[in-house]
Order: sequence, then structure tokens, then C-alpha cells
Amino acid sequence: MSKNDLAAEYCTLLGAENVLTEEADRDRYAHDRLPFATFRAREGAKVGTLPRLVLRPATSDEVREIVNLAAKSDSPVIPYGSGSGVLGGIIPLQNELMIDMQRMNKITKFDAENNLVTVEAGMNGEAFEAALNAKGYTSGHLPQSLTISTVGGWAACRGGGQESSRYGKIENIVVGLKAVLPDGQILEVRPLPKRATGPSVLDLIVGSEGTLAIITEVTMRIWKVPSDEKALVLALPNRASALGLAKRIMQAGLHPRIVRLYDEKEAAGRVKGIAAFEERPVMANIVVCGDAPIVAAETELVRGFAREFDAVETETRPFDEWRATRYVSITKQWLDRGFYNDTIEVTVNWSQVNSLYETIAAKIAALHPDAHFSAHWSHVYPEGVCQYMTLRLPPMDQNVALPLHSLMWEIAEGETLAHGGSIAHHHGSGLFRGGWMDGEHGVGMDVLRKVKDAVDPANLFNPGKLGFATREGAVNPFQARGQNE
Ligand SMILES: Cc1cc2nc3c(=O)[nH]c(=O)nc-3n(C[C@H](O)[C@H](O)[C@H](O)COP(=O)(O)OP(=O)(O)OC[C@H]3O[C@@H](n4cnc5c(N)ncnc54)[C@H](O)[C@@H]3O)c2cc1C
Repeated sequence: MSKNDLAAEYCTLLGAENVLTEEADRDRYAHDRLPFATFRAREGAKVGTLPRLVLRPATSDEVREIVNLAAKSDSPVIPYGSGSGVLGGIIPLQNELMIDMQRMNKITKFDAENNLVTVEAGMNGEAFEAALNAKGYTSGHLPQSLTISTVGGWAACRGGGQESSRYGKIENIVVGLKAVLPDGQILEVRPLPKRATGPSVLDLIVGSEGTLAIITEVTMRIWKVPSDEKALVLALPNRASALGLAKRIMQAGLHPRIVRLYDEKEAAGRVKGIAAFEERPVMANIVVCGDAPIVAAETELVRGFAREFDAVETETRPFDEWRATRYVSITKQWLDRGFYNDTIEVTVNWSQVNSLYETIAAKIAALHPDAHFSAHWSHVYPEGVCQYMTLRLPPMDQNVALPLHSLMWEIAEGETLAHGGSIAHHHGSGLFRGGWMDGEHGVGMDVLRKVKDAVDPANLFNPGKLGFATREGAVNPFQARGQNE
């Protein structure tokens, strides 16, 4: 079917105003926040192609009809939330049809009795959280990208919010969904507490990044906004003591709403003028919350644990300043100034985290004298932690910077696998991390490929992402990465 014929059919289905054909419109949907693409764009180069058309459905039925027509014309599709992903998940490789979910932006059911909310996938995160707050509730999922991401994008990427130590990641918060499959069927998972009915279909879709299904609606847990909280800012002598404290808190069964640990470098810019950090340069921000008696009891417990790790409690200014700017992108500030800034979030067990940090820090330092490496830890669990690393090079010739950037990724992801960790905690895999997916899953990746082939035999849904095959004639420019581990 010609491009014009397909566009005409979609205009009949959605209305002409919801079928974008102009190059400038299609260009807006051709990239997300993948830092590598920003580096290339500085020299006028592009990663991937333009989408063939941008389609803007308003209902699950319209999504289904889009998919049916796409299947009939053998046209691959990519669901688009709001393009805040940082791994190239929405980048078209072969002029795929882009399905912009943002007209599906309503809360369809608020169920206070069961602590559940049902929301269309394209709803903006900030608008969603504001609507819940207006009723006295929160979803507990507050990513730094809250204002620029959608609820469906969170579920598609297995995202993590800043309060994950209390509420969990999105896979712990999403309990039901509606999604359109490549064959046009609508899959519904009812929002029930737990099941013992075989492997979880919900878990297969959450995190599938548009490769198995287009999520049109999710049902999420909600919680009353805590009535009270207490923030503790602690100065600690070294990273090991801060990590030990977080482990102690989580293994004691506490669920603070915030646990943020900063290494010396990331703490330095936040603690200027506070004497406690002169001898103890590592910072922990811990916020407990709930009803007042719980807050009082947990505060005393945390203070007791803090003493075990030689921590000194100090003023809360660093935490207050972080909270006031918690949705602002630090990477963007560096990118705007011509730096090569990137972030990599991985997961390891507690037993490996100190070695992981030190090994990567040493290897990055050996790579280039101006290479920056720092980390913070803001998602903590009884068994381990997410290490969120910032890697940066100053403005320099791209011919030097891009190979170094690539080596930094190889070091960070390679060492994570060597330490038994996972290559991604909450940003997903997208296009950029595909090369590491075999190292991540081993035989499990064969299982996932078989599932993909069975659910989407024509490879219509977001081809080439998550380490899955591209369609004939298309290339994943990053596929060779991760092959040296
Ligand atoms: C400054 C900044 C801070 C960030 N902070 C965080 C953070 O704290 N925590 C975190 O988890 N992430 C964070 N991210 C990453 C990003 O915001 C998340 O991955 C987010 O979940 C993506 O949502 P989106 O709606 O923009 O999705 P998009 O970028 O549009 O899409 C991402 C992927 O999901 C797929 N997808 C989108 N919608 C659907 C759908 N309805 N059905 C099926 N597949 C779909 C796309 O095809 C693509 O593969 C950050 C990004 C930036 C730029």
C-alpha cells in the first residue's frame, strides 16, 4: 500500500487532524532523550529514520484498528508516550508508523475502596499525580521525568520513581492493564491482589517497551498521601558506611519514602558550608513517613542505625533543595553546554556494590584524565541497590569523544555483569542497550525471543528494540555493543 493510500485510510479512521504527514511533525517524533543522539545531532547527524506517519488515537478501539491496518499493509508500528526515554526506545529504524498515545489522557476509574486507579496510557505523569493529590492520594511513582513522561511509558519501561523504597517500582504498582496485541486482540489483565495461575502475563507486558503490546490503560495501586514525615540528612565517613546504613534500614523492614546516598563528588556540590561534611564527605538523605507515631518510632530507629555507621545528623537544607528541584534534568544542563554527559543505572547485590563502584571508577579514570565518574544510590532493597552513575567528558572533538563514550558504557555494563548485576534498573533497554541483553539474560533471552516470535510473528511491534531482531533491511546501529563481555 502506498504511503498516500495508507495515510488516507488512517485519516478516515482517526480524522485528518490526527494523522501527521508533514516532515517537521514527523521529525519531532523521531527521537527521544538518548544522549548519544544528542551528541550526533550537534554535527547534524541523525540516529534512525523519520516515522512514516504519526497517528494519534483516542481510544483502545482506535489503537486496535490502527494495528489491524498496519498488519494488513505489513507496516511496523512504535507506540510513543512522550519521548522522555533515554535509550532510543522510540527511534524509528525503517520509517515505522508512530502511535502517539497522548490523546488517551484520562483517569477512567477512581476506586478508593480498593486503593486503585485506572488511567489511560497516554496521561502525562505530572497531571496524573496532581489529579490523585487533589483527592488526597499518590501513586507513589515519582520519576525525575514525572513532568515529561506518560503513565504508559512508565509501565512499558519498568520505570522506577524517587520513592521506590516505600512504594516499589512500577512493576509493583501496576496491578492490571489493557493492551492491544500485534494480531489486533485486546488483552485485559484484571487488577487483583495476587494470583497462582501460571506465569504472569502482566509481567510479560510490563517492561516490553512496545515490542509485544501497546498498553492502552493501566490500573495502579494508590496510597493516601502520608500525613507526616521526618527528613534526616546524615554526613557519613565513606561510601561503604552509607551503603551499610541503607542496607541496615531495608533489612530491618523499614520503608522510608526517600533513601538517597551520594558519593563524595555528588555530595560536594550539595553540602557547601555545612561543617559536618568536612570530615564526613558522603551524604545520606532518609525520609520516613506515615502517621505521627510511626514516624516518631522509625526516626528513632534510623537514628540508632546511623550511630552504628558513625553518621552525624545535620541540617536538612541539602534535602530541601533537592526536593524543590527534583524534576529538573541535570543531564540536560550539561548537554546544553556541549558536554558528553550520560547516566547508567544498574542493579547489584549489597555484597558487590563497593567493588562495582571502585572497579568502574578506576577504569574510567584510566580512560581519560578529564573523564568524570560519580554515583548516587536512590533505589534500595533488602537484597541490593541501584547504582546510578554519571559519566561525563568535557566538550571535545567527537572523533575522540564518541569512542570514549562507547568505552565508558562497555566498562559500566561489562563490570556490572561481571559483578553478577543487572545492566538496567529503570531506564529500560530500548535500542542502545540491545547488545547487552544476551549477557543480561543468557538462555532467558532465547525464551524472550521465542515469546516475541510467537506473539508478533511478522515483527510489527517496535522491531529491533530490547535486543530483538530488526526487520529485513533495517540495522540497529548499536547492536555490536556489549559483545566483548
Ligand atoms: C531528565 C530525565 C529523568 C528521568 N528520570 C527517570 C526516573 O527517575 N525514573 C525512570 O524510570 N525513568 C526516568 N527517565 C526515563 C524516562 O522518562 C522513562 O523511561 C519513562 O518511563 C518513559 O516514558 P515516556 O512516556 O516518555 O515513554 P517514551 O520515551 O515515549 O517511550 C519509551 C518506550 O516505551 C514504549 N511505550 C511508550 N508508551 C507505550 C505504551 N502505551 N504501550 C507500549 N509501549 C509504550 C515506547 O515504544 C518506547 O519503547 C528519565 C528521563 C529523563 C529525560
